Amino acid sequence: MHGFRTIEKSIEYTKTATPDVILLRLTDALKKKHVHSFQKIGPVIGIPGKDSNNAIKKAFRLGIEELIVQPYTPLEIKLKIEYCLQKKQYIDRLKKEKQHLNALLEITSLISSSLNSHEILHFMVKKIAEVIPVVRCSMIRIEHEQNFAYVIATYENPRIKTITLDLDKYPEIKETIITKSPVIVNDVNTDPLMAEVRETIIPLGIKSIIVLPVFFKDTVIGTLFLRTSRREKSFTDEEIMFCRTVANTSANALYNAFLYEKSENEKVRLGKLAITDFLTGLYNTRYLYHRLEEEFNRAHRYSTPISCLMMDIDLFKRINDAYGHKTGDRVLKEFAHFLKINVRKTDILARYGGEEFIILLPNTSHDGALTEAERLSLCIKRHKFKSLKSKRVITVSIGITTSPHKDISSSDDLITCADTALFKAKNTGRSKVIVY
Ligand code: GH3
Ligand code: MG
Ligand code: MG
Repeated sequence: MHGFRTIEKSIEYTKTATPDVILLRLTDALKKKHVHSFQKIGPVIGIPGKDSNNAIKKAFRLGIEELIVQPYTPLEIKLKIEYCLQKKQYIDRLKKEKQHLNALLEITSLISSSLNSHEILHFMVKKIAEVIPVVRCSMIRIEHEQNFAYVIATYENPRIKTITLDLDKYPEIKETIITKSPVIVNDVNTDPLMAEVRETIIPLGIKSIIVLPVFFKDTVIGTLFLRTSRREKSFTDEEIMFCRTVANTSANALYNAFLYEKSENEKVRLGKLAITDFLTGLYNTRYLYHRLEEEFNRAHRYSTPISCLMMDIDLFKRINDAYGHKTGDRVLKEFAHFLKINVRKTDILARYGGEEFIILLPNTSHDGALTEAERLSLCIKRHKFKSLKSKRVITVSIGITTSPHKDISSSDDLITCADTALFKAKNTGRSKVIVY
């Protein structure tokens, strides 16, 4: 309780403090603007002076509904203050409820107008953060077979679409998944559920956590995840109720986001499959021809050289004959992997056929290609292949072409001429590099 003799002093005080109730002595000096500025801070109880009739009229005109008319007793003041405090609490609650209802209304109208699940989910977490003081508010997707969860919307960053959470570090989320019920941690410092992660979570300044399950049919497909900072109070019943309604509303959007992500991943997977050789995981000929055309045209357009190495493993039939076809497959796989880590990132490596490979070298002259072919040939010869238990050495023959060349006017010519050079390498003793 603070008392001030002049209006100026009490105004000064309200600049740094927010009193729950303000008792105002209503004198003629009391100005309209002063009354209104007090009313903005909290409930005002007016105490009329001697000329009470005029003061009461004025007080009502200014919107002061609560008055204590002289003579009054201390008990009267006490009861009036209590009444005002209760009224204030009631009005605050109504205001909050109105805020929650408005937020829900906005969320449901976005759901009916937007097909973008991420937009909906982000809007939900943003609205929650607007009406509840939280440091973190996220929508999390659960993948049941894994010990991970994925943050797919968080109010702090609208662009975030997936962050992976290791569930061992989030016992509260795990508990929600297991119990299929809301988990409320009022104080992370004392809640036994947080025992194992307390040391990492306390420095983050977190006080309370709510995790609410989001169901699709009977399965928990996600959670709404809120944390408050140490400075704030823990969650009120009304806030929890509001979040539960949002969590229930989010189920469809969350499920759609999950389906969308799955189909995108599948698209990527199928796309990769279409350009990959099944046995070796290298690019297949389909992709090679596509890139060859592209790179050849680019080289032509910018007048830069382009080279092609055609590589064939020497006497590979003998490896099959000696160790069996399965081992032959393993050798090819290992060989492909070895090539992959030994070619430059900018070069395009593809399996051209059985034990034949093509390496396209954009922006590489005849000399550069020859050096590269000899380097590769040497490191293959030196490499000990694990799938070949004996000390058997693998050698390769390589044919090289480089454009510009008088015989090469198309991307097909680049391959045909490399094949001719390779043929010559085979016919003149193998394990060698021939330039067309
Ligand atoms: P050269 O030095 O003349 O190239 O002799 P080579 O034995 O390597 O050549 P040839 O063309 O006579 O035989 C190629 C062999 O490669 C025969 C074939 O069975 C084997 N091969 C091709 N593709 C695969 C495969 O995917 N897996 C296995 N294990 N062997 C393969
Ligand atoms: Mg061969
Ligand atoms: Mg061959």
